[in-house]
Order: sequence, then structure tokens, then C-alpha cells
Amino acid sequence: MGARRDINSINSVVIHCAATPNGRAYSAEQIDQWHKERNFQRDMSISPGYSPLQHIGYHFVIELDGTLKRGRPLEEVGAHAYGHNQASIGICMVGTDQFALAQWHTLLKLIQGLEAHLDMMLSLYGHNQLSSKICPGFDVPAWVKRKFRPLDKHLLEEVFNGLV
Ligand SMILES: [Zn+2]
Repeated sequence: MGARRDINSINSVVIHCAATPNGRAYSAEQIDQWHKERNFQRDMSISPGYSPLQHIGYHFVIELDGTLKRGRPLEEVGAHAYGHNQASIGICMVGTDQFALAQWHTLLKLIQGLEAHLDMMLSLYGHNQLSSKICPGFDVPAWVKRKFRPLDKHLLEEVFNGLV
């Protein structure tokens, strides 16, 4: 079960993908269900009412349309990056290696908002830098180096029906 922590112990963000098919609108509730099946359990007493999701290991999920959903509160240790959960915030992008422009915008705004809230710079990692995983399907340091502009091959090509 997710343990309580002091938010002053937080120093980093770990970015993940949901490993769902690109362009498909899976929800935070669906991810919560998958984490339930893996026996993840939140401690709902840590921040009652913060989020209805009772299992999810991430702190935030960014859905396909850019909607930000709350998972665990910052005061609860996540379950998303083995050996790195204690001091990090887990953010999951729906998709595998291509994300909508709205998702990229939400990701950047979220990180900026967290840094303002915590009044510190956070170290940003992709899960793939911390263990031998493909997740989040893109190179986080390259994204930082590009000043957080979406990496072309990881930008979902969106179809605007009826506009052309
Ligand atoms: Zn991951």
C-alpha cells in the first residue's frame, strides 16, 4: 500500500507511457483497473477525496485529449519505477510512443506547476533511463534539450475529419 511521505522528500519526476495503442483514448480509470489486477493498493486515508482511483501507481495520468487526471496525491509514495518511487512523482501518458499535441502541452504545464508548487527544480527522467524498459517511448533528455518542444516522430498525427 502506498505509504505517506513528506513532500519535501520529492526531487524528481519519472515519465511513463501507458503502453496502450497510439491514438486510442484509454482512461485513467482503465489504468486504475489494470493496477487493481496487479494488486496495487492506495492508502485512501492519506488525502481523502483527492482522487477516486484506489489502485493506480502513478500520481498523474495525461489522457489522449490532454486531460489531466489525478492518481496518487504527492504525499503518497507511488508505485511506478522500482527503486525510485520514494522521491519521485510518476506521470503516465496514454499511448505508447506517440502523443497528441494536447498531451505534450499538459505534460509541460504539469511539470512547471509542480516545480512552482514545490518551489524547486525537479530532475526529469524517462522510465527507460532507470530500468531497461521502452517506456515512455521517447527520449526525455532529448525532449528537455529541445526546450520541451514535442519530438516530431513522437507527435501523434491527428485527423481532423471534415476540415480538408
Ligand atoms: Zn514506465
